[in-house]
Amino acid sequence: GDTPSEFGLQFELTPSSTARDDAEREVILSDPGFGKHFTDHMVTIDWSLDAGWHDASVHPYGPLQLDPSASVLHYAQEIFEGLKAYRHADGSVWSFRPDANARRLQRSARRLALPELSTDDFVESIRQIVRADLDWVPSAPETSLYLRPFMIATEAFLGVRAAQEVAYHVIASPAGAYFTGGVSPVSIWLTTNYARAGKGGTGAAKTGGNYASSLLPQQEAYENGCQQVLFLDSSESNYIEELGGMNVVLVKKDGTLVTPDSDSILEGITRDSILELAEARGHRVERRRVTIDEWRDGVAGGDIVEVFACGTAAVVVPIAELKGEGIHIGSPAAEGGELTMSLRAELTDIQYGRRPDVHGWMTRL
Ligand code: PMP
Repeated sequence: GDTPSEFGLQFELTPSSTARDDAEREVILSDPGFGKHFTDHMVTIDWSLDAGWHDASVHPYGPLQLDPSASVLHYAQEIFEGLKAYRHADGSVWSFRPDANARRLQRSARRLALPELSTDDFVESIRQIVRADLDWVPSAPETSLYLRPFMIATEAFLGVRAAQEVAYHVIASPAGAYFTGGVSPVSIWLTTNYARAGKGGTGAAKTGGNYASSLLPQQEAYENGCQQVLFLDSSESNYIEELGGMNVVLVKKDGTLVTPDSDSILEGITRDSILELAEARGHRVERRRVTIDEWRDGVAGGDIVEVFACGTAAVVVPIAELKGEGIHIGSPAAEGGELTMSLRAELTDIQYGRRPDVHGWMTRL
């Protein structure tokens, strides 16, 4: 039957008849890993140029039916988001700044010529899948239910233009603790052969093509013993941009946090939140262009005392070293500097309800 929603779209619920039982679910939740297992339900909302958003539903998780000519398969007209649902000690389930993910999806939609989904309908879609699969939100420390909203061009048409039929879906995947036994620092590979984005390109949008183009340099990173790849901007100026899936922050001796300002990087919600926490503590924050030389010379001269990466999956991770062809920058605080680790603790305490949400960042699902 219909599940009433306070705003906009009404979601029709079709419960899964093949939902896994408690025992099967517990086996998965005891060691979920990341992105391997999916819950029993998913959300679908359809859009067409004529009818706008319509037919919102929560239904059993399963394969999509797509026409082989669907434009997403040929021209990559798609966008996505990534956020988590956290279980608090009293059993309640919350998400972190879902309105910020909604607005970022709207910005991505504009760049990819896809329709915008309202913030209310986005948040409601998250609430609907979490309520249908509430038992899939794990409760062990630092675990979560990872939510993956995405929008694809489904119109069966090979002409190169914005699709007139689109689908939005949300799937959910239980996620284990990113780190077991303490946060471990990461080694970063600086790629100089490949760029992730260019001026006027799609770098600021969360769209599949950006990740497709990062796979080869990411392989290069693995081959060089690194977990993530750092991209420079595509000019010859050596400005740093971001990692394949995380933003970068440098911490100076005087407590100033410096992070790249660029219109071709993904504006991370974790980074934005961490910087706001730091500012609230009285730290100076600089969003400006940063060169690789500033990073290298700052570490060498003792002016940069901590470097970390941040994103939804791992929250905050110290960077142990940066290496690339003809360059090696060690870490000033490889095991995680004091500020890095205390900002990480403050943010995760808010997310898991261990600290009052004074910023109004948490939404009950
Ligand atoms: N940059 C890129 C390229 C990413 O994929 C992500 C992960 N979404 C981030 C930065 C960090 O963003 P957030 O903190 O919103 O997860």
